[in-house]
Amino acid sequence: MTTTIDFLSHLNPSQRQAVEHYCGPLLVVAGAGSGKTRALTYRIANLILKHRVDPENILAVTFTNKAAREMKDRIQRLFAEQLAMKQHGQRFDLLTEYQQTLLRSQVYKDTIKDLWCGTFHSLFSRILRFDIEKYVDEKGRRWNRNFSIFDESDVMTLIKEIVNKQLNLDDKKFDARSVRYAISNAKNQGLSPQEFEQEQPNYRGRVIAQVYSLYQDKLAENNALDFDDLILVPTRLFQQNEQVLGYWHRKFCHILVDEYQDTNRTQYQLIHLLVTNGETRKSEWEWQNRSVFVVGDADQSIYSFRMADFTILLGFQEDFGDGLVDDDTRTMVKLEENYRSCENILQAANELIENNTQRIDKVLKPTRGPGEQITCHKADEELAEAAFVINQISTLENQNPELNWGSFAILYRTNAQSRPFEELLVKYQIPYTVVGGMRFYDRKEIKDVIAYLRAIANPSDTVSLLRVINTPRRGIGKTTIDALVNASQQLGTTLWEILSDETSVNTLAGRATKAVNSFAEMISRWQGQIGTLPVTEVLQGILEDSGYVQDLMSQGTDEATDRVQNVQELYNAALQFQEENEEVSLRDFLSSAALSSDLDNLKEGQTAVSLMTLHASKGLEFPVVFLVGLEQGLFPGYRSLSDPASLEEERRLCYVGITRAQERLYISHARERRLYGSREPAMRSQFIDELPEELLTTQRLSRQNYTKSASTSNGKQDTKQNWQVGDRVLHKTFGIGEITHVFGTGSKMSVAIKFSSLGQKIVDPRVAQLQRV
Ligand code: ATP
Ligand code: MG
Repeated sequence: MTTTIDFLSHLNPSQRQAVEHYCGPLLVVAGAGSGKTRALTYRIANLILKHRVDPENILAVTFTNKAAREMKDRIQRLFAEQLAMKQHGQRFDLLTEYQQTLLRSQVYKDTIKDLWCGTFHSLFSRILRFDIEKYVDEKGRRWNRNFSIFDESDVMTLIKEIVNKQLNLDDKKFDARSVRYAISNAKNQGLSPQEFEQEQPNYRGRVIAQVYSLYQDKLAENNALDFDDLILVPTRLFQQNEQVLGYWHRKFCHILVDEYQDTNRTQYQLIHLLVTNGETRKSEWEWQNRSVFVVGDADQSIYSFRMADFTILLGFQEDFGDGLVDDDTRTMVKLEENYRSCENILQAANELIENNTQRIDKVLKPTRGPGEQITCHKADEELAEAAFVINQISTLENQNPELNWGSFAILYRTNAQSRPFEELLVKYQIPYTVVGGMRFYDRKEIKDVIAYLRAIANPSDTVSLLRVINTPRRGIGKTTIDALVNASQQLGTTLWEILSDETSVNTLAGRATKAVNSFAEMISRWQGQIGTLPVTEVLQGILEDSGYVQDLMSQGTDEATDRVQNVQELYNAALQFQEENEEVSLRDFLSSAALSSDLDNLKEGQTAVSLMTLHASKGLEFPVVFLVGLEQGLFPGYRSLSDPASLEEERRLCYVGITRAQERLYISHARERRLYGSREPAMRSQFIDELPEELLTTQRLSRQNYTKSASTSNGKQDTKQNWQVGDRVLHKTFGIGEITHVFGTGSKMSVAIKFSSLGQKIVDPRVAQLQRV
């Protein structure tokens, strides 16, 4: 049966060819903003609607959780639009809100719920929740499906313990961070500690191999995996167990991968195993009702420091197709129109990337008008740079009704650069989010509560148990804890086995016996609840009975109040998770918490300026983009100045940054910058010189504007102001607005201010402590 699938009309002919491709391998290569992600999304919809593929047979891999959410939303919308025509004979947007909600929830139930769409890490951790018990590592160890996912700080705790305590290494020579990096690289290359050791030519390498091996012991003892394991373990499992691989191979008939240029070898291997069922002879591959569809752009490969390798993209046709000609249209589609950026921006990006030698030339034609010129701004130092950017943002937001705070992105090379921007954004009360900054789930109080949950879900997780055994303080001191841990190590059991045995506790815990026993009772009580009560109820019990919240409340400081609110937000997150997913288990909630990259899912609907590193901006788009800190040694980074290959990667990063912009692009650099404490003169980035001069205009912050922002930035308020219609002012609660009326004079004066989001308000300028901006 064929359905009229009118959404295909939203696509150009090449996209359509990609979307309508059904079985076999297909590679879509194209430059930034050419609609690769759109093609991938529509293809999922087309597989389900036209080819009647069951959503549960589709595996779609995205680079971030946010991208996965957007993709699911988009598909849900496409289906709801189809259904609206079918059921109501009307366009979706013409239906009542109630009808729209009903349709969306129907689509969710019938389609989206069963679709496996997420990052490599989230998808494969889900597979492990089913099958990890069938995995055996090279030392014969096993994990169970309640495994914990250790985040970076848990991992660093373990590594430091091994480096500093267990092996007593000189931490100048064996800095924990660099050891950690080496281990992560080994895992990303699929190497076990033994395999890694064999590759080491020198003493240092062999010591790191030893740390790696001890680290694996600790993970296994805790029934825990780290992020790299979420890719490595399923690969190994698939290689060692045909039945397991066979099951997932049969299930996932259609595999789609976005941002394929940034996959690494282990991720590639996973995809290859799933597609081929581990069969090495191509003649044995079964393409009937099966496809692998990847999209990518080698010019946007920016994760080589995580072992991503864009030659994997270039080898796709060879790997999965019959490796005929490079241009074989049966296995490759090129997209050549850019729909995102105005022509000037696109031309700048194209000219910049042409300076790279390692690339395949491709065509990227504009479909939009020339747009504004690109503004290049030179500031005196980093604070002035931030003042320029924030000033532009508030002016543009104010002057253009089609822009809101969410239309702006500030992109930088390194995380630390966000500080001056954040300070000014706070000062001017402009809402903002730092994408990929301190994760919600990395806050101390959230980690504490999550540790309770992890200890309950996975009693072997000693790291979590130790985190909460005396948090809040319940009189279990270090000596007692050491005695308990020691005993468990001597006996080769987990700490929990000791804690949960009253006799052992009575013997070991001395004065703290009562406290330890009641802690253990509490934990086992909650353990007993997880099968029967919803996650939120268990969580509520923990918050009330552990004394954690009470302890915070009794501190009475602002910081403690903040922490209580965050804990409350965690409860909301659990509630939301429960509403969005059917039959959630505590395990699932913990996986999603471990893998979430920031709080953005909890704050949906709020518009805010986005701040992020260039790496985090991949795949996104914004009407107005500020690329800041374009200075030699910062961007391109210092190390790349003497290494041509990494200079090319920096240039790709700059290409990614430029191509995020839809309408306007600003590039800025400072004459001098405080780096590592000392103030250094800075030279403008060579990337600016590589842009076509005729597309750039220079803009300085006018002296008047600059003094204004400088005077407000020292926090003084204008007390004896002569307020006038047209003044732009900052109100301490309502943010920035424009004065539309002035009533009375002197001490009787009041003013009407129009705020973009709140409408008009009349205020007393002295009470409101207005400041001019
Ligand atoms: P990137 O390389 O940055 O990931 P991309 O190739 O994945 O970019 P998309 O994000 O899919 O590009 O699309 C870029 C923009 O162009 C989006 O706003 C998308 O909605 C729009 N777009 C894509 N295809 C078309 C089309 N055929 N007609 C109109 N707009 C389109
Ligand atoms: Mg994309």
